Amino acid sequence: MAARIIDGKAIAAELRAAVAAETRRLTAAHGLMPGLAVVLVGENPASEAYVVSKSRAVVEVGMRPFDFHLAAAAAREEELIDLVQNLNANPAVHGILVQLPLPPHIDTARVLSSVDPDKDVDGFHPLNAGRLASGLPALAPCTPIGCIKLAKTEHASLAGLDAVVIGRSNIVGKPLLQLLLAENATVTIAHSRSRDLPALCGRADLLFAAIGRPEFVRGSWIKPGATVIDVGINRVAAGGKSRIVGDVCFAEALEAAGAITPVPGGVGPMTIACLLVNTLRAACLQAKLPPPNV
Ligand code: NAP
Repeated sequence: MAARIIDGKAIAAELRAAVAAETRRLTAAHGLMPGLAVVLVGENPASEAYVVSKSRAVVEVGMRPFDFHLAAAAAREEELIDLVQNLNANPAVHGILVQLPLPPHIDTARVLSSVDPDKDVDGFHPLNAGRLASGLPALAPCTPIGCIKLAKTEHASLAGLDAVVIGRSNIVGKPLLQLLLAENATVTIAHSRSRDLPALCGRADLLFAAIGRPEFVRGSWIKPGATVIDVGINRVAAGGKSRIVGDVCFAEALEAAGAITPVPGGVGPMTIACLLVNTLRAACLQAKLPPPNV
């Protein structure tokens, strides 16, 4: 039987509507309009497209956007850190996002560490990573939060489920491991040195693929009925054109999985929606209000 399609686009739209309602309530009741600053360095077309869609989403939910664009060639590390520190000190800015990747002459770790952890809506500051790993309240990265929300549309509770995450990046795999542990799943994290990936995947009730390799996970690896969350975004050439595919061979996985996210239209839309949730959370934190109910 073909797997159910987990419609990330529709689920993200619902989440954005909930964020918009909560933003209206905060603005009316407390005069608090959450503000998100997005800093882009350079002319990477994919980054430019992400930044445009993030700013559009911010405006749509009634938040205030602050957009900054530095030319790559002229941008100095100190100039970027000065800008981040000004945003740290600006009370109208509740969230700061520095779009990655940064040009190679800039030390990414140093820039990310200069963001005020309370405004770190990407969850990349080492303090937030450490808090997340310690089970303390933290701003966590948006893509893994979105993965958990999608898995929870299929499973009311993730407790006791066997979860396998392929990929151990700081952006996806590692924070996803921590969020799954917080949900009481039993987690295996695999990477390029893991042995017998098909056997590892075959144990998974929940399979998360964050590898960056087109259609790498085969249908035969998937436990029948498993929930598959495909984080990958890979552009491949097809018949003189190009198209986007995930890290999972979707056509094969449809026959084995119980439910699966498509690419595009799965995890991608959730990432921006969760950025809005994090901005709302950061605004409440800074205003010493209870966390938002989204
Ligand atoms: P990354 O930093 O390149 O990490 C890739 C991970 O995959 C690494 O841990 C690597 O292992 C592992 N890997 C590579 N080849 C492997 C193999 N043959 N077998 C097993 N593991 C292997 O990538 P990322 O930033 O996490 O992103 C992963 C994918 O998600 C990309 O397609 C990216 O575009 C996509 N993504 C999507 C969103 C979204 O919003 N949907 C957000 C972020 C990323 P090692 O550590 O051993 O090298």
